[in-house]
Amino acid sequence: AYNFAPGPAALPESVLKQAQADMLEWGDAGASIVEMSHRGPEFMEVATRAEADLRTLLGVPDDYAVLFLPGGATTAQALLPLNFANQGDTVDYVVTGHWGKTALKQLTPAVSVNIAASGEADGYRTIPARDSWRLTPGAAYVHITANETIHGVEYRPAWGETAPDTGDVPLFADFSSSIASEPIDISRYGVIYAGAQKNLGPVGISVVIVRRELLERAGMPRADVFNYSSQLANDSMLNTPPTWNWYVAGLVFRWMLDEGGTVAFNRRSDEKAALLYGAIDGSGGFYRNDIDAAVRSRMNVPFFLADEARNTAFLDGAREAGLIGLKGHRVLGGMRASIYNAMPVDGVRSLVAYMQDFQKTHG
Ligand code: PLP
Repeated sequence: AYNFAPGPAALPESVLKQAQADMLEWGDAGASIVEMSHRGPEFMEVATRAEADLRTLLGVPDDYAVLFLPGGATTAQALLPLNFANQGDTVDYVVTGHWGKTALKQLTPAVSVNIAASGEADGYRTIPARDSWRLTPGAAYVHITANETIHGVEYRPAWGETAPDTGDVPLFADFSSSIASEPIDISRYGVIYAGAQKNLGPVGISVVIVRRELLERAGMPRADVFNYSSQLANDSMLNTPPTWNWYVAGLVFRWMLDEGGTVAFNRRSDEKAALLYGAIDGSGGFYRNDIDAAVRSRMNVPFFLADEARNTAFLDGAREAGLIGLKGHRVLGGMRASIYNAMPVDGVRSLVAYMQDFQKTHG
């Protein structure tokens, strides 16, 4: 089946096969990858290689640290203010959908939050223009959601700069659902973070890429395990790390490099998005996506049937055609096709063919 689920999402078949073999026995170690010490030479090699491959894949500059931490993007959202803001500091948040709102809920009451811009008034169908943002001079950071997984809104070149200029205030970005889908200039960001379970691997681990000088900030009083500097000093192994997740993510990084890296995935993402939005827009209103064309996500495509009474028939037929994971998020209803790096162009072609067939029979 082609799996269009938003996350945990599809992984490449070659990665799953390799993971299956290593789950039984790692090389001739006499033990599974999940049975080996995180401090042993075998796992150290896995961990070091994963970081090196991620650095190559994303072009991470040397003055940026890479952390592999347990927990999801929500955990990172809670740790950002603790690590990078001081008591009483203001933090600026730009809210462009559900996950931007979730990030607000993770803030400690010890900071003042300024919502610099929000797309809520128009149902998150667009991203407020950069010149309408009310940024706080001297804020600890500005937080954006690079791609809104539920609302299907993404900073695209047609909107303006994909990494909006925030002057001297560092830009922090939640890249959970779009990391590695195109080349980005990491140096434009102070922090990039992502839960792994969409483009990078299995759920349970997240990647945090941080400009090293920001780690010199004192931040809030916090437990050592929540201290990014301590995590870095311990190579993300302050306590036992999620070794399996880290290892599978490493396989995914290698796969992405073998496939041609972010340049190749950028091309594929353009092709997949053009096919799917083209089918929706060309359906004469049978299907619709309401997002401003300048910020339509290439990763998550929410769409609605004009006649919502047909939703169940659409999903049942899709499943029979081997197309799964298309039910929309409960916040929006309708349908959503998540077309991350592991979704081949042929998967989207199959979906489009199914949508056209469904329209012929029900239109
Ligand atoms: N941010 C974005 C953009 C997401 O898509 C998600 C999950 O789907 C989250 C944050 C929350 O991630 P997690 O469930 O890993 O905490």
